[in-house]
Parts: sequence; structure tokens; C-alpha cells
Amino acid sequence: MKVPLIDLRGQHQLLRPQLLEAIERVIDSQQFVLGSEVEALEEEIADYCTVEFAVGCASGSDALLLALMSLDLKAGDEVITTPFTFFATGAAITRLGVHPRFVDIDPRTYNIDPAAVEAAITPQTRAILPVHLYGQCADMDPLLEIGKRYGLLIVEDAAQAIGAEDRGRRAGSMGHIGCLSFYPTKNLGGAGDGGMLVTDDPVFAKRLRRLRVHGGTTEYHHDEVGINSRLDALQAAILRVKYQYLDEWSEARREKAAFYTQLLEERGLNVDFTPPFVRASVRHIFHQYVVRARQQNDEVINHLSRHGIGSKVYYPVPLHLQKCFAYLGYSNGQFPEAERAATQTLALPCFPEITEEQQRYVVDVLAKFDRGVNGQTVVKTEKGVR
Ligand SMILES: *Cc1c(COP(=O)(O)O)cnc(C)c1O
Repeated sequence: MKVPLIDLRGQHQLLRPQLLEAIERVIDSQQFVLGSEVEALEEEIADYCTVEFAVGCASGSDALLLALMSLDLKAGDEVITTPFTFFATGAAITRLGVHPRFVDIDPRTYNIDPAAVEAAITPQTRAILPVHLYGQCADMDPLLEIGKRYGLLIVEDAAQAIGAEDRGRRAGSMGHIGCLSFYPTKNLGGAGDGGMLVTDDPVFAKRLRRLRVHGGTTEYHHDEVGINSRLDALQAAILRVKYQYLDEWSEARREKAAFYTQLLEERGLNVDFTPPFVRASVRHIFHQYVVRARQQNDEVINHLSRHGIGSKVYYPVPLHLQKCFAYLGYSNGQFPEAERAATQTLALPCFPEITEEQQRYVVDVLAKFDRGVNGQTVVKTEKGVR
């Protein structure tokens, strides 16, 4: 049996007629960049994220960059974030000449540790950039409280968390600005790159709309320098089709995730492969189903791969150890939980269309690893028994 890490064919097959119709509609309209399709999607996503405003842009990475640009950060300012995230989170900060102040993660959720955040605040700190990793919100209450107390702005990297909730509040709606990605493998993914910013603040919304079109107030009149980061109408039209299924898909992911956890526990594998920890009062949308292995994650990944199963480490190199960030002066050992997560965690195939049979197979194959298919562990145990 083959089980890919993600397989988008199922959903595209199902929606093929509607997607082609949407594409045709855009081609007939000849309105390819921004315009009414994008505006319609912006309204739907603002609604979905329970905010007043949504601003489409070219990618989730650009959403982060635009959000930080709108905060008027200066060289020497600091933004506190997690080192255990996709590269774009850190890159958006350094792009602006701003200093990312990394802090360690909570080893249970892999999200930023609020206690570490407060300890990292300096007079230069301007903002906190939490990431809602794998589809589970970072613990926002302490972060919002710290933000208020120190007068810091909060930008949420909700690229993996559209529709996730923390105590009934939607990802992206809790801080000042939320950033979404429509990369094809995200829970709501287009047929190419795309992103969106969400906010309740009309001032930020207006500024972001301007920044995404080179900072122009009207055509050819620029009060500031922005970037070119517009959402195109083809992506918006495709996303509007898929948006109608988003809740159904995220519910299905939640069910598949619960089934994995149940299987792992039933078979007593949950000690060797710790299932995701879900905080109380959250809606986890399981963009990824990530387990922590007792062994090195690459050994487990190779084992799964030999049995036709896709799995992956998100993320093998924490940002503080990336070569391009060496100038920031961080060193190995500084964020032990992030570093440990990088060597122990792996994502299992978990997407709305995965079958029960495929999931059982994945767990069967994990069970074989556990029994020491991989040599050394087995030898030691047998010697111990004898
Ligand atoms: C996907 C992702 C991004 C970037 O989104 P793109 O649309 O791929 O540019 C940023 N942050 C996180 C945590 C992501 O997962």
C-alpha cells in the first residue's frame, strides 16, 4: 500500500467542474489581478475569521512582510518570535532590518512559550509574532496580556491555522493583524500562491491595501514605498469554490487525527510516538498531524518510506541555526526544546480524504519500527532479557 503525506487529487477530482467553471468565469471577465473575485473572497474570509477587514496578497510570506511593514518598525527594533516555524516567519522580520528575538517553544504544543516571551522583552521590543503551528493556536491569552502590559503589537502567523480557535476566538482575529496562506497544501489552498491579511483595525486595513500596490494612494502617486503583492483573480475564484468545503475538510482532518491518536493508544505505541497534545478550549484544525518519536525522526521517516508511506519533519533546522541568520549570534543549545523537536518530530499523512485502511496501515508500519525492525534496539532488548 502507498500512503502519500498529502494527496490533493481527491478534492480536485470532486471539484473539477466547479473549478473549471470558476477559471472560465475569470478568463471571460479579463480581470486577472485583484477586482471583484478578490473582493468577494476577502469578504468571505473576513467573515470566516470574524474580523472586519481582509486584504488579499500574493502569498503567506508576503502577508507577514506586509503586516510588519505596516507596523513602521525601524532598524534596531526587535520582534519576538519562535525559532520552530517555517522560514518565512523569521525572514519577514530580517527583511525589514529588524532583529528577530527568538524564544523557546512549549514542548507539548511546539508553539511559542509565553513565559519565555516576557523574559525576552527589551526596550527595543515592538511586536510579538506567534505562529499557530500545525493548526493549533499558540496560547494567546498570556501573549495578549503581555502585549497589552508592554505596549507591543501582535501579528499572528496563522498560515497553518485558518479556522482554528483559541477559547472561541478565530486564528488571526486575536492580535492586531493575522496572516494567512493559500499555498496549495494548506487547509484552504489555491492552485498556486496566495495569501491574505485579516484585521479589525480600519487604519491597518487601509495601510495594507496601499502597501500591496507599491504604497500608492492613487495610481502613480506614492506617499510611501510598498511592494507588488496582489492576489490574482484566478486564485481567488478557485479559493472561493474550495472555501465552501473548508469546514467539512477541517472537520475531516480532526476526525482522522483523533483516529490516529486512538490507534496509537490502543496499540500502546503512544509512548514511542507521542500523539499531538491538544490544549483545552481550542479548535485544532490539524494542518499537520505531528508525533514525537523517541528515536531520531530520520530513522522513522526512512522506515516509513521503505513501506511506501510519506512523512516529513516540519522543521528540521530551527531558524536560530539557519546559516543566513548566523549574524544574529544565536548558537546551538540555546533553545533546547526547539532543537529537540527538530530531531524528534515527524508529520504523518493526514488529509481529509485519507482512508481508515491507510491510517491503520501507517500505524501497523509504526508498530514494526517499535518492535525493533531497525536493528540495534532489538539486540539490546534481547540481551537484556537473556
Ligand atoms: C506556509 C507558511 C507561511 C508562508 O506562506 P506561503 O504562502 O507559502 O508564502 C508562513 N508561515 C507558516 C507558518 C507557514 O506554514
